[in-house]
Amino acid sequence: MGRLNKKRSSVRLVPIVVAIVLLCCTVLLLVFGDLGRFALGPCTAGREGAAEGVSGGAKELLETRNFEASPRAIEDLKGGVVDERLVATLQTIANAHRICVDAFKAGHYFLPGVPDGPLIPDGYPDAGLSNTHYYGRAVDIRRVDGKPVRGNGTDPHVLDIGDIISRIPPQERPDQIIGPEDWVKALGGSSEEGWILNEDELEHHKDHIHLGYIKKDGTWNTR
Ligand SMILES: [Zn+2]
Repeated sequence: MGRLNKKRSSVRLVPIVVAIVLLCCTVLLLVFGDLGRFALGPCTAGREGAAEGVSGGAKELLETRNFEASPRAIEDLKGGVVDERLVATLQTIANAHRICVDAFKAGHYFLPGVPDGPLIPDGYPDAGLSNTHYYGRAVDIRRVDGKPVRGNGTDPHVLDIGDIISRIPPQERPDQIIGPEDWVKALGGSSEEGWILNEDELEHHKDHIHLGYIKKDGTWNTR
């Protein structure tokens, strides 16, 4: 009698065990799926229909599969905050490489927790100069073809981004081109061509490529 009961209860346990296993699998999937996303950062790829109500270059960029961006960067593009020259430059790059843009204006901080203003704050190289992020004239690219910029300054894909930028005509090329030191040195661009070469600035750009336009109209490259 006892044995029969045992058999019955173990048969009854089967669906419970199956349910627990399924539950565990779901939890693991959720946790690791999210962790994976956190590790990679929030990057949403461009797609058809992503630019509802948006026109021009920003629309094209938002619908380019190779163009990935954080939610705040996408909002800036949709809101018309981003300078057209910068949009065009990013389109040129995204035509050849998959890039992830972290920030234009929204959510860019020079000092942690302190909202950016129109000028670069004290404690930063070039403090007091115009903050191109604030005016929607700068972008930070964190990833190229799925690889982080940090530690990959001499990766052929990351270097090719620099080559592509170099080939943009001076009047359209960003006049703030900054990135990891090995990236900048390997590409060999000059400050007359828009590259920022001072050590202090390079120190702040180990993990991203910053492209910016100093002036509202025209570029310093045509001085
Ligand atoms: Zn920047």
